[in-house]
Amino acid sequence: MPQIKSYADEATAARWLEWHTRISQRYSQVSSLLEWNYETNITSENAKLMSNQNLLVSPFARLTLPIAKKFNAQLKNSTNEDLKRVMNRCARGTISYDDNEVEVASKLSSQLESIFGTTTVCELNNTKQCHTIEPYLTELMKKEKDYDRLTWAWEGWYDACGMKVRPVYLTYIDLLNKNCKANGYSDLSEEWIEDYEMGNATEFEGILDQILKDIAPLYEQIHAYVRGRLCAMYPNKFSCNGPIPAHLLGNMWAQSWESRFDDFIPYPNAPVPNITQVLRDQKFSIHQMYKTAEQFFTSIDLYPMTPKFWARSMFKKPKDRDVVCHASAFDLGYHDDYRTKICTQIDDDYFYTIHHEMGHIEYYMSYDKAQPFVYRSGANSGFHEAIGDTIGMFAISPANLIKLGFLDENAVNEQFKINYLLRLALQKVAFLPFAYAMDKYRFALFRNQINRNYELNSMWWALRVEHGGIMAAVHRNDAVHFDAGAKYHIPSNVPYARYFIAHILQFQFYRALCRIKGQTEDLYMCNIYGNKEVGRRFKEMLAMGSSKSWSDILEQLTGERKLESNAVLDFFKPLYKWLKTENAAKGYPVGWMPK
Ligand SMILES: [Zn+2]
Repeated sequence: MPQIKSYADEATAARWLEWHTRISQRYSQVSSLLEWNYETNITSENAKLMSNQNLLVSPFARLTLPIAKKFNAQLKNSTNEDLKRVMNRCARGTISYDDNEVEVASKLSSQLESIFGTTTVCELNNTKQCHTIEPYLTELMKKEKDYDRLTWAWEGWYDACGMKVRPVYLTYIDLLNKNCKANGYSDLSEEWIEDYEMGNATEFEGILDQILKDIAPLYEQIHAYVRGRLCAMYPNKFSCNGPIPAHLLGNMWAQSWESRFDDFIPYPNAPVPNITQVLRDQKFSIHQMYKTAEQFFTSIDLYPMTPKFWARSMFKKPKDRDVVCHASAFDLGYHDDYRTKICTQIDDDYFYTIHHEMGHIEYYMSYDKAQPFVYRSGANSGFHEAIGDTIGMFAISPANLIKLGFLDENAVNEQFKINYLLRLALQKVAFLPFAYAMDKYRFALFRNQINRNYELNSMWWALRVEHGGIMAAVHRNDAVHFDAGAKYHIPSNVPYARYFIAHILQFQFYRALCRIKGQTEDLYMCNIYGNKEVGRRFKEMLAMGSSKSWSDILEQLTGERKLESNAVLDFFKPLYKWLKTENAAKGYPVGWMPK
């Protein structure tokens, strides 16, 4: 380590940072690889290797974090913005002084990943025939219509996964929380929130609350319409004025509802192309799905996937070993080594997921080329989740489907428009209250505001009901159940507010890219395919990484400095109008809370 005579000396600080970065970069490369190895091959050996690596890195963090904090305190008044920014980031995070705890935390974390990836639900009449969440249960939730079969899958998964996750997860977060407190944070939520650079906890949560409030009128109309249709399909199964049972929405977590679009379609005579059907009719291979997605990115001059991407990614669920199927994208940080792992099935959902994960990789490639190691991350984590989604929205837009020959130009009329907007709203707007509840719940848990004996599970559903009008499919019991734990990002401990933010940001990106192209009306018909100028501006933003504040970076592309819920509301305005008329005409009640 370079010698430090004064923490106020900028030249010393810069030298120290250079040393620190070199070592952190190497550690990060190794950690990414070990993580990849474990998630694509769940074995105790691979878990052990990760744990060993954590033990190896710990002394370095113990040595350097206090030093970074000292520099950071001394550099407060420096005019070198860059140096301040980098040092401030190095001074964040937590360290554990107890090797035993490092090892235990690492074990618990691998164990949680493994539970989610390997838990199965067995058939009632055949306990030898059991199913994991991907592909079987996920697929079933999308397609099955039978109330009882859906109940079986839902209850089976929430019982099996949630109850197994419960004790391990609680021990795990207690350990993390204790460590956070020892490092000067109030609890884990404060550390998570700091990462967004969107103010303190009150300010941050205030921003999310306001967005949810802005969206609520639109969401309530969608909810009312969907519930009205479901009530007719499943008479006497649930109250047509109350929350919707969570197993009827085409998704295990009722987080997005587009898989049941066919049951809700407003105008059956103006069908929106069923991409699943198109992919199957045209006999698309999994490889072709990836190539088609890549083509969109390269058409606007973003990067093609690298040879290592094609050689090393996991495109299918392997038969010979356990893996973490949950889709993700990796930056191995070394010589164009980018990979994705997706247990791809040939359907519209996975087609979209491929765009999402490739978006991460485009971001990696852009900032890896342009930025030093310390700025190789998203402007904030919400940006990272929004890139691929933005492109994915263009890819499935009617204009692009016409271009691909999946849709006849003459089929696009007013009725088609409502159909299309509803389908997208079931995917994007329905998601917001779910995403909101995910971290609202965890913040309360981390802050010890939830009694674990009496309300651990009911608090989760209280939030789902209050903000989204979604309730548990069957009766639950606080003493044993832990339904939040049946969603991947809880056991894997991935913060979720990033997805909430991303679902607003992507509409801001989308609107800005259309504006650059010169289109400000009928945005659902905007297509940027092949537009190099639009791509150049998008890439410019990606290449900035986290070198500036996220507001500055957002402004460069969109001219906006804040999250703007009106990007979503404006996009869906025609649908909102239609839903209000339709719900009133059908006599569908709006809202779900007892007045
Ligand atoms: Zn993602």
